[in-house]
Amino acid sequence: MGQDIIELSETLANQIAAGEVIERPASVVKELVENAIDAGATKVDILIEAAGIQLIQVIDDGQGIRADQLERAFLRHATSKIKTKQDLFQIHSLGFRGEALPSIASVADVFLETAVANAESGAMLHIRGNQILEQKGAEARKGTNITVRDLFFNTPARLKYLKSQTTELAKIVDIINRLAFSYPEISFNLVHNKKRLMQTVGNGNLQQVIGAIYGVEVARDMVTVTAADTDFKVQGWIAKPELTRSNRSYISLLINGRYVRNFNLAKALVKGYGTRLMVGRFPLAVLQIELDPSLVDVNVHPQKFEVRISKENQLLTLLEKMVSEAFNQVNLIPNATEHL
Ligand code: ADP
Ligand code: MG
Repeated sequence: MGQDIIELSETLANQIAAGEVIERPASVVKELVENAIDAGATKVDILIEAAGIQLIQVIDDGQGIRADQLERAFLRHATSKIKTKQDLFQIHSLGFRGEALPSIASVADVFLETAVANAESGAMLHIRGNQILEQKGAEARKGTNITVRDLFFNTPARLKYLKSQTTELAKIVDIINRLAFSYPEISFNLVHNKKRLMQTVGNGNLQQVIGAIYGVEVARDMVTVTAADTDFKVQGWIAKPELTRSNRSYISLLINGRYVRNFNLAKALVKGYGTRLMVGRFPLAVLQIELDPSLVDVNVHPQKFEVRISKENQLLTLLEKMVSEAFNQVNLIPNATEHL
């Protein structure tokens, strides 16, 4: 007398997925802004109210979604970014799992307006708790405008688990900052409760982005670095050893445009400073690391914060050497005069 085994409804399956992908308002912001970036946007506006619990709106000027495809965007595992197993090992986009929109729509109220270039009209879809409430034509303004309201309205436990608005907002700011570091050629504009929190011009200048986020003084105290070997290309900015912080959170490691948390890479960076850094102090750094997509597995974490890099040891060596060489050159002359 065994039990019946039933297939979960699409809505329930989406809510379960949302548990992994959509942990908090910052996860929604991350998924939506990554979609904008994948759509080739040059300008992304992010409007937030009440740390994202009331409202998260992301407006981009990217390629948009065709009216006849709009409903499909909310289907689970529906994506325009990969087609075959081969593609999964050659990921060139930030998204590929086709889980974000259905997950978000299963735990919030979503209003999406979109249009592709040169279309006669756009399309609009209003969906709440995975129920489509309205679908109609919209203005033919190229790009996508998505509004998420009442996040976690039907998952009270998730809502309760959220931290203070200050903490939730800080997580949103952090996500946008790292994306801005990854994409200096995109103009980001973050507004919270009608107050601008950050803005980048999108002219491709990474040092200016660092200035916009950490302040111009800090950006001036950083040096540019680059290194390459047969498999990896690294470029970016690292702080002079005098400019330190008490934790690692000012280290941004961007692998093929994706911010990742990787303790080993951060450690190699710190090791490169050697005795120039005081014990317990950490540098500021923004490093863009490029490698063949087949050398990195991004499919290990639902939110993709962790990735697996083949030949990681080779990259660690490259980073450490790059940093230590940077300061051998920079410090030679000033140190020599100081000791005269
Ligand atoms: P994924 O990003 O993994 O493909 P999503 O659920 O985030 O999955 O999005 C589903 C699909 O909807 C995307 O593959 C893309 O085709 C489309 N889409 C979502 N957001 C945008 C956007 N801002 N601009 C253009 N297309 C979008
Ligand atoms: Mg996505």
